[in-house]
Amino acid sequence: MIEIDGSQGEGGGQIVRSSLALSLLTGKPFTIRNVRAGRSKPGLMRQHLTAVNAAAEVGNATVTGAEVGSREISFEPTEIRRGEFDFQISTAGSITLVLQTVLPALMIGNEESRISLSGGTHNLMAPPFDFLARSYVPQLEKMGPAVQLQLNSWGFYPAGGGHFIATVQPVESMTGFNLIERGKLLTRRVRSIVSSLPVKIAQRETERITRKLNWDRAEVEHIEVENPRGPGNIVFAELVYENVTAVFTGFGRMGITSEKVADGVVRDVRKYLKLDAPVGPHLTDQLMLPMAIAAHFSGAVSQFRTGPLTQHSVTHADIIQKFLDVDVKLESEDPDDSRGAVTVSVSAGA
Ligand code: ATP
Repeated sequence: MIEIDGSQGEGGGQIVRSSLALSLLTGKPFTIRNVRAGRSKPGLMRQHLTAVNAAAEVGNATVTGAEVGSREISFEPTEIRRGEFDFQISTAGSITLVLQTVLPALMIGNEESRISLSGGTHNLMAPPFDFLARSYVPQLEKMGPAVQLQLNSWGFYPAGGGHFIATVQPVESMTGFNLIERGKLLTRRVRSIVSSLPVKIAQRETERITRKLNWDRAEVEHIEVENPRGPGNIVFAELVYENVTAVFTGFGRMGITSEKVADGVVRDVRKYLKLDAPVGPHLTDQLMLPMAIAAHFSGAVSQFRTGPLTQHSVTHADIIQKFLDVDVKLESEDPDDSRGAVTVSVSAGA
């Protein structure tokens, strides 16, 4: 039984989701005490609970402590089931995070899976559907599996009601992966989406972003959601390079002007451009796990370049090494360079 202290490092829900994913992959049972102790409302929230239940269904697992507010859970999987799944969060909790919990186990094997997910598709503090589709999945596919994502409806906080389908063609073993340079810049895109809100909001956001970044030749799109489930607004700036697509997100919120939402995106884009590494902080979090799977099961070596590491990424690296026999190295390239580029490499344990 692997014992995990949920208060370590970041002390958030990623510890729970990653432990579930890793337990499914390895068949190793675990317990977590002090679940999400680092958060203002500790314990499992609806979104984490859906991830626990989804993982239990995929892994035919015995679980204790699977309830909202629970501070301690245990999870013991038996056999992985592949095929059709339907996971639903009745609130607007993030379903992209639920997908990322079960996806690692479903992308290794020899039977296709089709996962239907309902809930929040575009949530603060979670990868928006578009980030998965445009940034994360294309990198994941370089390691072997094929993942198709189809968005059927947009789900924003607080109404939820979003829906997408993920179809996963697994591989017997994953290959290594390298992402050292961005490659040539191919396209710049700015897209703003409004649901039950005036399109003027989208226009103000895209106008502000293109003007402040001097992106006069960017592709600009304003999308008004058809059949909206509730109000919502999100804006994306995207840099499409040969080797990676970087997606920057601004979430519209009550009481925050469109310009302020846009300025947050501009700040993130500038930070990324200054760094000159291909992988941003969110993709860093999300790529370490598939790379570690490739290292543990196939002995493949992978690496990428990113910026200064968040505590979230460092915590994630620790959890991965509790379950898998891998070595995750996080190395600063030039300690004198204030931009702080880091090379992340994952290889099989010595
Ligand atoms: P909590 O305990 O509150 O649930 P958590 O640890 O589960 O926290 P976060 O730290 O907020 O969750 O992050 C969840 C995941 O979502 C991380 O992998 C993070 O990189 C990713 N993420 C958050 N915001 C974005 C974004 N704008 N774009 C892409 N990915 C994001």
